[in-house]
Amino acid sequence: MTSILIIYTGGTIGMINDPVKGDLVPFDFRQIRQNVPELGRLDYNLEVYSFDPILDSSNMTPDIWAQIAVLIRDSYGSYDGFVILHGSDTMAFTASALSFMLENLGKPVVLTGSQLPIGEIRTDAKENLITALEIAATKKPDGQPMVPEVCVYFDYQLLRGNRSIKYNSEKFEAFRSPNYPLLAEAGVTLSFFNNYILPQPKHELIVHLDYDPNIGVLKLYPGISELAVRAVTSSTVTAIVMETFGSGNTSTADWFINCLQEAIDAGKVIVDITQCQRGSVELGMYQTSRRLKEIGIVSGYDMTFEAATTKLMYLMGQQLNKSEVVRLMATELRGELTT
Ligand code: ASP
Repeated sequence: MTSILIIYTGGTIGMINDPVKGDLVPFDFRQIRQNVPELGRLDYNLEVYSFDPILDSSNMTPDIWAQIAVLIRDSYGSYDGFVILHGSDTMAFTASALSFMLENLGKPVVLTGSQLPIGEIRTDAKENLITALEIAATKKPDGQPMVPEVCVYFDYQLLRGNRSIKYNSEKFEAFRSPNYPLLAEAGVTLSFFNNYILPQPKHELIVHLDYDPNIGVLKLYPGISELAVRAVTSSTVTAIVMETFGSGNTSTADWFINCLQEAIDAGKVIVDITQCQRGSVELGMYQTSRRLKEIGIVSGYDMTFEAATTKLMYLMGQQLNKSEVVRLMATELRGELTT
């Protein structure tokens, strides 16, 4: 029988109405079968691991990503797939981080949640949960898992985890994958788009638990002051994600380029990603990004902010020299970027 481990971290999905007080309270997900009797019709062995205390995902931390990764590592041999129930607010960060932490992942890790609590009549939680379980359980005719990667399932769509962003806080369609096609779509049937799904890895799972959270973010806007730029470039962070204009462009002012140059000379890695939701950084395409290339700014190509920050934390946490971090940041590791 197919076995799935449900890892419940928290979020809106796990709320029900307290019949006495009338407010929304988290329910004990270990009793999930009582609250979602439809699960009994799935012919799977389901086990639930619940975090204690459960979290609103705004309180998610890299330490908790590591706890989730350890849970998957320690039970990897006992389950066919994993479904992580998570608040939607930072789900794309957790999905991105886990994709880097779980190298050579050969089983589905599907994150889902909901916009309305599971106890509400119009809830999207039941559909999201039940289909996420089906996706985690689906095998190819040769017995291999259909989706051996970290992904996000929400509102009938399966997205690659490290390509997903939370795009809407009100609609059931809370997530999008602006630069990568869907992995699957749930309609009358579950349609998997195999050409876009990562292949089964050839090697054993390696779980990386080390990360360096000491990274900074520099989001540019016209008129940004030298003081504001220096607050990041001269700070004690070890690496910076710089959100730039269009295809990776920035001001060409000498003071601005000097700030970046000084940070690089001090050993910092600076990764350029675009503020545009779609499209990619192309260093050197315009004069406004040529200098960036010359001084050693790294192209983040079409990575999401979530993927860029978590990948940088992951790489900076490995015992790598700076040139390796620079090389790997601009290299596709888990399907997170297109060069
Ligand atoms: N604030 C909630 C969370 O991210 C929202 C949700 O679950 O959708 O934990």
